[in-house]
Amino acid sequence: KFIVFEGNDGSGKTTQLLKVEKYLKQKGYRVITTREPGGTEIGYRIRKLLLDPVCKMDGLTEALLLAADRNEHVKNVLIPALEEGYVVICDRYILSSVVYQGIARGVGIENILRLNSIFEEKLKPDLYIVLTARPEIAIKRLKMAGKTDRIDIEDIDFHTKVYNGFKEVVQRFERCVNIEAEGTVDEVFEGVCSVVDELLKA
Ligand code: ATP
Ligand code: C5P
Ligand code: MG
Repeated sequence: KFIVFEGNDGSGKTTQLLKVEKYLKQKGYRVITTREPGGTEIGYRIRKLLLDPVCKMDGLTEALLLAADRNEHVKNVLIPALEEGYVVICDRYILSSVVYQGIARGVGIENILRLNSIFEEKLKPDLYIVLTARPEIAIKRLKMAGKTDRIDIEDIDFHTKVYNGFKEVVQRFERCVNIEAEGTVDEVFEGVCSVVDELLKA
């Protein structure tokens, strides 16, 4: 099974992903966790370029770099792990491209979908868990953690577009569950667990 965590910066994706990994391993599942961008050696280099504040780039350039990252990741990590029977949990996938580049950076949802259709055909997630926390809450969390890269680069307006973007796409995409992530880590995990349990018993 292929499970993807999506959501705005600071919504708690990585925190919940690690908790689900532990939870499923305790239950005896073989689990691999990975992320985009940066789940391969080439992807890691692309990630560094994308996050370099000196490299301000066009939204479409960003989308193309993310697609290159995704191609390496799908081919060399995701598909092989799924074929070996692992439960694969990934931090971000196509929905992030739709929201960040398609909506927030203005490239257009349809353009991003066209660019990503090759991956949509090859590998669709069994479940997208979309965590959302209003930007003022999410940004406060990231500041507390000292994770200010994206906050330093983008303003509140950008983060609001991303938040609203995720709210919009969860309506349009299949196999997508929106979990409000403004409560405590344990409260959010309860919601996450229930959808993961449902998927794995199916
Ligand atoms: P990014 O998009 O930047 O990778 P993220 O969605 O992965 O962010 P996390 O890194 O999991 O978010 O969480 C950001 C910070 O907020 C961390 O310090 C984490 O411990 C804390 N945090 C996560 N979930 C919650 C929560 N439900 N309540 C309070 N703090 C939280
Ligand atoms: O979630 P993670 O910390 O791995 O994301 C790294 C950064 O890349 C975040 O600041 C996120 O906003 C950005 N990103 C993006 N477009 C994507 C995926 C991630 O701008 N499609
Ligand atoms: Mg994270």
